[in-house]
Amino acid sequence: MENKKEKLEGIEIKDDAKLIEEGYITIIAGPCAIESWEQLDAIAKVVKNLGLSFMRGGAYKPRTSPYSFQGLGEEGLKYLKEINIKYGLKTVTEVTDTENVEIIANNVDVLQIGTRNMSNFALLKKVGRVANERNKKVLLKRGWASSIKEWLLAVEYITLQGNTEVVLCERGIRTFETDTRFTLDLSAVPVIKKLSKLPIIVDPSHAVGWSDLVIPMSRAAIAVGADGLIVEAHTNPSQALSDGQQSLNAKELAELVRQVKNIADVIGKKIR
Ligand code: PEP
Ligand code: MN
Repeated sequence: MENKKEKLEGIEIKDDAKLIEEGYITIIAGPCAIESWEQLDAIAKVVKNLGLSFMRGGAYKPRTSPYSFQGLGEEGLKYLKEINIKYGLKTVTEVTDTENVEIIANNVDVLQIGTRNMSNFALLKKVGRVANERNKKVLLKRGWASSIKEWLLAVEYITLQGNTEVVLCERGIRTFETDTRFTLDLSAVPVIKKLSKLPIIVDPSHAVGWSDLVIPMSRAAIAVGADGLIVEAHTNPSQALSDGQQSLNAKELAELVRQVKNIADVIGKKIR
């Protein structure tokens, strides 16, 4: 891997595909955290074979506990870049700090802002500036205690920096319910469609927190009008270093794509 990593230095991803395309449902899949080259490559193969175009993987992990796995950082970014070159998959990773925006933009296609940072205005502005300069897309997750209006104002911190493609992601909000990790607010999808022209995708994995609930909520998300999904997947979820209980295995991911495709057919959309 060392040699390969050296060879990749200085290569920049050619960045043309949009995250959301009219008439398509974009399914972004991949592990919560990048754990090793072998782990990322194994799930990338699955994602590619399913015909998907985008892959997720966290390099810098914003974990609730400081004792949990914090991600591989820069090494993980190199693996994402290599996946892009090897499979042609576009990559999505989370920006956690104003300090890592540039290096992430050097290595991936889509800069994700996580729920914990939706109201980190310095980060939003920096991501907006860098994404605009480098022609990157931004995926802005909803803060788990933020209203839809606050979320839409957070978008403007990014777009005031330039003409960047911003896609929203509903990932569940905090309520009194404890049988799911969060409560997936699917009404946010039509409300966003009513209030704005922005595309919106849904993250059922972080919302429900359990892998067996991910497929039913994915079906619902597409039926209610979401433009796509971002789901966690791992070839061996029970060994995952982060969020294994909510991660789909390869077979389950294939089943999700199959079921979502059936719904997409009915509403006249294709899967990508
Ligand atoms: C993630 O997608 O890796 C993540 C941490 O999600 P969220 O910000 O929604 O918790
Ligand atoms: Mn996760």
